[in-house]
Amino acid sequence: MYNKSSKTASEFINHEEILESLKWAEENKNNLELINKIIDEAKPYKIGNETHAKGLSHRSASLLLACVDETVWNKIFNLAREIKQAFYGNRIVIFAPLYLSNYCTNCCIYCPYHMQNKHIPRKKLSQDEIKKEVIALQDMGHKRLAIESGEDPKNNPIEYILDSIKTIYSIKHKNGAIRRVNVNIAATTVENYKKLKEAGIGTYILFQETYHKEAYEKLHPSGPKHNYAYHTEAMDRALEAGIDDVGLGVLFGLERYKYELAGLLMHAEHLESVFGIGPHTISVPRIKKADDIDPNAFDNGIDDTIFKKLTALIRISVPYTGLIISTRESEQIRRELLELGVTQISGASRTSVGGYSQTERPTDTEQFDVSDQRSLDEVVNWLMKLGFIPSFCTACYREGRTGDRFMKLCKTGQIQNCCAPNAIITLKEFLEDYASADTKKTGEALIKNYLENLKNEALKETLKNNLTKIDQGERDFRF
Ligand code: SF4
Ligand code: SF4
Repeated sequence: MYNKSSKTASEFINHEEILESLKWAEENKNNLELINKIIDEAKPYKIGNETHAKGLSHRSASLLLACVDETVWNKIFNLAREIKQAFYGNRIVIFAPLYLSNYCTNCCIYCPYHMQNKHIPRKKLSQDEIKKEVIALQDMGHKRLAIESGEDPKNNPIEYILDSIKTIYSIKHKNGAIRRVNVNIAATTVENYKKLKEAGIGTYILFQETYHKEAYEKLHPSGPKHNYAYHTEAMDRALEAGIDDVGLGVLFGLERYKYELAGLLMHAEHLESVFGIGPHTISVPRIKKADDIDPNAFDNGIDDTIFKKLTALIRISVPYTGLIISTRESEQIRRELLELGVTQISGASRTSVGGYSQTERPTDTEQFDVSDQRSLDEVVNWLMKLGFIPSFCTACYREGRTGDRFMKLCKTGQIQNCCAPNAIITLKEFLEDYASADTKKTGEALIKNYLENLKNEALKETLKNNLTKIDQGERDFRF
């Protein structure tokens, strides 16, 4: 039976409840009065200086997704833009994935690292190799990483992950530093999550891949990941272990997207109900070509139109959750999704093990094909020309603004008071240390314009002081 507060996967991601929700959505998809009421109620509103938005339940979001009326969809897209602006403003946070090891004992049918793939070279970075990768990433200007590793207790035990995190944080090359390490590793025990927490990780990210249990078991025919309940309950264990920020994700294309959206939002509702905090981030990858993986072999691929609808609905449903899009997607679709609610993007990613320290992009161990292959400087320049402020900010985690403290600021829109000035500070560091001449010129003009329009005089003064100090060689200021 459906119970969002249950700790049992089959109860908080309840198959019957999803089917009921989808059936109800189909039956009511032409009920424009109800649909418009739901859209109106999801609009942001003010209480004093605070901005609030109610979000959408999995049922309401499923109903909007079922609707095919174009006028309604224009309203939904406009509402997604409005919420994005109200809660996040113009800043876009940038990060990079770092692949540590592609040894894996699982058999995920959509991933080239599956253990039956006998021709892909297997690699695991030594601590010295990690150092080289991190220096290469720092030399581009990155400050925030997401580490990735296959599941293999022999080759990639938790001790290896912990050593790697330590190595990453320890490297200070020129003015570079990695200030936040997010971790994307397999579901594990409360004890191991406690160790990750102690190592100072940012967000613990684990993609559900699909919420459909039967499909999940077929897509993961063997290996530890085969256990749907253990995988689905991982975020509960992570939060119980004291990790404050967790990131969800679905691999769109594996199952029917309507089912996945309902499941994803039920997962968010469950975390909110049990722990009082929703997901810190949600990622929306689509299945991509890779070594022995053909995306056309999967029946549930989604086109760009559906993808945009899903992004907009997630934005409206969980206004307080960061939304991530990777370099799996092309420049064009990334631009469109940035407007509809995406708040974080990866830039200049290499999805192979050891890819950053090589001049040419290696493809032999890539986990997926990279569509957006621009350099970090090009991505930063592009974002600014689109009217966004590229941000390398990691301030919240370092100021202890995590978990419910972070959520409170986010849910009231007050986080914006930190996000924009921190974006300006970290952009300035990038311009000083890593940018091309054109990017620097564009960035300086953006900063000047930002300061001119800043109404809070005290903030403007502090920000100006910090920017002057950055000019003089100091680094790492934050609000
Ligand atoms: S998705 Fe992860 S667990 Fe599955 S085969 Fe790839 S690396 Fe291994
Ligand atoms: S201030 Fe916090 S929420 Fe805003 S960009 Fe920085 S780390 Fe993210």
